[in-house]
Amino acid sequence: MVSKRVIHKYHPLLFMSENGHEKRKEEYTCSTGVAIDSFLCSYCKSNCKRYGFNKAGKQRFRCKSCKRTSLAWYNSSTLSPHFDNQIKTLVKEGCGIRSIGRILKISASTVIRRIKKISSAIEPPVIATGQTFELDELCTFIGNKRTLIWVAYVIDSATKQVAAFNIGNRSVQMLAQVTEPLLRTSPAKIFTDKLLQYKSLIPPSIHVTKKYGINHIERKNLTLRTHLKRLNRRTIYFSKSVAMLHACLMIYFFG
Ligand SMILES: [Zn+2]
Repeated sequence: MVSKRVIHKYHPLLFMSENGHEKRKEEYTCSTGVAIDSFLCSYCKSNCKRYGFNKAGKQRFRCKSCKRTSLAWYNSSTLSPHFDNQIKTLVKEGCGIRSIGRILKISASTVIRRIKKISSAIEPPVIATGQTFELDELCTFIGNKRTLIWVAYVIDSATKQVAAFNIGNRSVQMLAQVTEPLLRTSPAKIFTDKLLQYKSLIPPSIHVTKKYGINHIERKNLTLRTHLKRLNRRTIYFSKSVAMLHACLMIYFFG
């Protein structure tokens, strides 16, 4: 019986799988040549026995008393900051969660966890005062194609950078989350479409709804739909949850 603490000292290469049946003994042999048949459960410290292999070909173990399964060794390379940068780049290039998992050889659940962690550390930029803005909404789906949702976002007309965004149902409360940070910076003008909700949110003196006023942001909608797979139109790609859509947009806009 080998304790889990000792197993962590083994060289990772010894655990690399070549998917051969006869290789199994060597794969899980430690540096001293002793095959690992069991180790202590990390939950209840009972004895664990071999219990098949995971998708990547690593040996799984199962606890005899609590029945929970675990691996003898976990790939910790996903914890490095370099990995976060790779995930960020792939999100910005429009890769889906599963394609990122395939490229980086990590599971989809790890990708989801990392994306949420990366996005939670991102701060939206400070909005400059006295600028002109364009505000528009982009329609997409959540979970299924019967559930519509809108991404309302605003760009600075001069720099074309996204200043703020929100996801929801185009209600006054939802759109207020986008307009309020703008109004605090005393903007010169805010261009929007003719959506009625804006009338109660933006003072008439700075609100413009004229034709061609939101050309730049309309073009940005196309760029967004091209760059992010989850926003592609007429495909089966859409986000399963608002949280993931929000996290990916945080990385795309501000990351
Ligand atoms: Zn256990």
